[in-house]
Amino acid sequence: MSETKENIHSTAVMLMRGKGVARGFAIGRAIIMGAATLEVSHYRIAPEDVPQECARLDAAIQTVYTDLQQIIKNLPADAPKELAPLLTVHSLLVSDPMLAEQTKEIIASRQYNAEWALSTQGQILADQFSVMQDEYIRERVADVNQVIERVIRVLSGTATSMIPDMSYDLDINSSIVVAHDISPADMIKLRGSRFAAFVTDLGGATSHTAIVARSMNVPAVVGMGNIRSLVRDKDMLIVDGEAGVVIVNPSPLVLSEYQKKQEIYIQERAELIQHKDEPAITLDGKKVKLEANIELPHEADEAMELGADGIGLFRSEFLFMGRSTLPDEEEQYEAYSYVLKTMADKPVTIRTLDIGSDKTLDGEATVAANPALGLRAVRYCLSRPELFQTQLRALLRASVHGKLRILIPMLSHMHELHAVKQAIEFAKSQLVEEGHSYGENIELGAMVEIPAIAIAIEPFLKHLDFVSIGTNDLIQYTLAIDRVDNEVSDLYDPLHPAVLRLISQTIQAGERAGKDVAVCGEMAGEPRYTRLLLGLGLTEFSMHPQQLLDVKKLVRTSHTNALRSKIATALNHAEAIDLDALGL
Ligand code: PEP
Ligand code: MG
Repeated sequence: MSETKENIHSTAVMLMRGKGVARGFAIGRAIIMGAATLEVSHYRIAPEDVPQECARLDAAIQTVYTDLQQIIKNLPADAPKELAPLLTVHSLLVSDPMLAEQTKEIIASRQYNAEWALSTQGQILADQFSVMQDEYIRERVADVNQVIERVIRVLSGTATSMIPDMSYDLDINSSIVVAHDISPADMIKLRGSRFAAFVTDLGGATSHTAIVARSMNVPAVVGMGNIRSLVRDKDMLIVDGEAGVVIVNPSPLVLSEYQKKQEIYIQERAELIQHKDEPAITLDGKKVKLEANIELPHEADEAMELGADGIGLFRSEFLFMGRSTLPDEEEQYEAYSYVLKTMADKPVTIRTLDIGSDKTLDGEATVAANPALGLRAVRYCLSRPELFQTQLRALLRASVHGKLRILIPMLSHMHELHAVKQAIEFAKSQLVEEGHSYGENIELGAMVEIPAIAIAIEPFLKHLDFVSIGTNDLIQYTLAIDRVDNEVSDLYDPLHPAVLRLISQTIQAGERAGKDVAVCGEMAGEPRYTRLLLGLGLTEFSMHPQQLLDVKKLVRTSHTNALRSKIATALNHAEAIDLDALGL
């Protein structure tokens, strides 16, 4: 985060940078959400008061646990699907006996009041979590903090202060929530009201704030560092979710500029939606398939509404994460059937479980030194035949409801492909014996996300119906850049010539073999790469549903043949592709 300050008359004007995680512009007044741990009272207690202080702690923990259970029970039907598992994690954290025991230990040994002891314990846990190898576990520190804040609020009698005071005279539609972090429990309450934007000190693209902001369709900027302590209630804010910028108390000139930007943005979105049913055909008549990436079954509804040509990637692992028991065959069958039925006769590509690395199952925190290179995805599934069979059986049974394509993640060896095929055949034979049926034309494909398969793609194509390039991992493994490590994120370059050559080779090999090649990594949904990918010969893109219309607009105004010759020359001659110099 960086700040520049510029004084205009007596009003401080600040421009602060964070990470834009949900697009759009908002102009409104700040509503500050309190963070209890930042204002915790510190005092020492008399030794004879230790038991009473411990009892106060137990009671507060119990209150928070009961509250969370109530919230889970009463979740509205339209609550984001991620909330229930997140709230469950919070109730597990708060009821973990270690939290109470270790805090009581601090109360007894240091004679701190309960609030102080709890915030001290929170700091100890945060330090322990921050040195964990596993990114997913490191990120859980935010959940621990939120739970501790919630208990402290009960202890200090300010249990409702996290939710902003909305009594003063503000138009709630133009109120911007400014918070240190937002817990899932508070988010569900905020979701009931209308806010113009969210801004938080903590968080990344997958933080809870980002998830809810996207599902509410409002701009959000996270990872601001300390905006909550710099901004005051009712300060005028501009939130630019595109650039990840927040401007505090803007000058009239800046304000009117952003009002114009906001109007243009709203107009553009309204215009784009008009074209949702138009085909994605280039100026020279090339039909391009624009499909959707989804994480949970109900997101297929949005994909249909926005005119997706199918589901290019259903990351099935999201059905398995954040829960203590894994989904059984029946639950998976329902989930896959829902998507297939929703998409009617459009293709639905369901990826088999891509667990491992940063995506772990509950209770299976990885111990591998390099989890991204370890027992992940298809490697994991082949090492857990029962779990894999359950998923394959559910997929096969669901296939009668539509056009199923099964996608294997992280394939690198031919013997893995043969083992997957055998597993599918075994599942089919078992289903037949049990009197179940399955679809006749189920296609089998593989993710191209390990350079090895991109380099030696031909023999794989002989045994596959299609491939889908996962640029997120292909870039990570080609350039040896951990995709979740901030320290090296500036080296994570989709335009590196090695990456582009691997994409290009894969597309060309697919053309020669007459097999479909898609891209389903983030590159496919980034409008700045649309023309480049068209020029590399790509005709199948899969992306977050909200990106479909922007990409379609570019497809409809591009001339594929002109782009192909431009890029072929650049790929042969240039060190690196310069999109601006090529006029892309
Ligand atoms: C990819 O690697 O590009 C991809 C689409 O898969 P994921 O992001 O789930 O690893
Ligand atoms: Mg991947």
